[in-house]
Amino acid sequence: MRALRWHGKQDIRCDTVPDPKIEHPRDAIIKVTSCAICGSDLHLYDGFMPGMENGDIMGHETMGIVEEVGSEVTNLKKGDRVVIPFTIFCGECDQCRRGNFSVCERSNRNKSLADKVFGHTTAGLFGYTHLTGGYPGGQAEYLRVPFADKTHIKVPLGIPDETLLFLSDIFPTGWQAAVQCDIQPDDTVAIWGCGPVGQFAIRSALLLGAKQVIAIDRVPERLAMAEAGGATTIDFSKESVVERLNELTRGKGPEKCIDAVGMEAHATATIDSMYDRAKQAVMLETDRPHVLREMMYVCRPAGVLSIPGVYGGLLDKVPFGMAMNKGLTFRMGQTHVNRWTDDLLRRIEMGQIDPSFVITHKVGLEEGPNMYKTFRDKLDGCIKVVLKP
Ligand code: NAD
Ligand code: ZN
Ligand code: ZN
Repeated sequence: MRALRWHGKQDIRCDTVPDPKIEHPRDAIIKVTSCAICGSDLHLYDGFMPGMENGDIMGHETMGIVEEVGSEVTNLKKGDRVVIPFTIFCGECDQCRRGNFSVCERSNRNKSLADKVFGHTTAGLFGYTHLTGGYPGGQAEYLRVPFADKTHIKVPLGIPDETLLFLSDIFPTGWQAAVQCDIQPDDTVAIWGCGPVGQFAIRSALLLGAKQVIAIDRVPERLAMAEAGGATTIDFSKESVVERLNELTRGKGPEKCIDAVGMEAHATATIDSMYDRAKQAVMLETDRPHVLREMMYVCRPAGVLSIPGVYGGLLDKVPFGMAMNKGLTFRMGQTHVNRWTDDLLRRIEMGQIDPSFVITHKVGLEEGPNMYKTFRDKLDGCIKVVLKP
């Protein structure tokens, strides 16, 4: 089959590789009909995330048709239409029983590596670092899904792929980021980053009843899409984010802040110098604003910082004393996708939201390598790329 593989920093290729096979009775094989490139893939593309190996298959936003199931998968059959969540989960361990699917205790096949680096294991993820299992991803013609009896979202026929695909990740991720803010009717929610995750966080915060949503970025097309979604926008390349946020909240500051940017804005870790603290300190003095510092400074006391943005390695110069004295709450993590998807699928079916609004590019898998660059560099108005294998 054809698949997009990682061969090093900024080196993604469309290669021919062996088709995946059932390896365990709980596996299923999916024939991929649509997959997407995520901002999290950019951390791998740019070499910010440790634990990648030459030849790893990329991709964790995938949907398709069940091709084959293992003997223990009794709730799926050939021909079923499924969206695959990016977090692989067993459904039975103590964390899964609490709904904490992204920290499943059993789905990471490199559990001992994760134990060593994180202190505990976290869930297996598709197409991501070997710290999270190094599972082959879904930017490919076929995908092997481990724990497939749990790790799937069954979706109806008759709704286009483009409307359903983002149940795999960015819709529940924006949603969880907003839910974690515990939004009250009087709240202003400020959202850093108007990429795909920020776009879903904006719409989720409004669906959850925020009085005002303020979105921050510098890319004109992304700011325009945020405005179309109901947000007031701030272009951080043209105005002071802290001053504008204070103005828009009559000096109080936003009650809730969401970081939908992640580590590139901080340049904290590279594969070459993951623990090189001196280098990090210098890199933090670059021209890029430090989103977390900005959030901690401007957030109203007793507010919440919700952080779907992904971090790896160490982060330096975080004013923790400021956060402590202001009584801020931090919420973060990989999304517990299946905790939210029944509700979100219902909202799609009821017409509350059509997630396909975020798509700007739809191309064949072969064009994937170019699309990584287009998406990373925000060329050609790119906001979200869907690949059709
Ligand atoms: P993206 O890279 O397309 O979007 C990031 C946006 O942030 C860009 O539009 C960029 O212009 C903007 N930005 C950069 N610096 C900024 C600053 N200082 N202030 C305000 N905006 C700034 O990526 P995405 O797909 O939207 O993903 C966003 C983040 O969410 C990434 O870190 C990604 O890894 C993460 N993510 C997390 C989960 C999860 O489960 N927690 C799931 C999906 C994605
Ligand atoms: Zn993702
Ligand atoms: Zn589990």
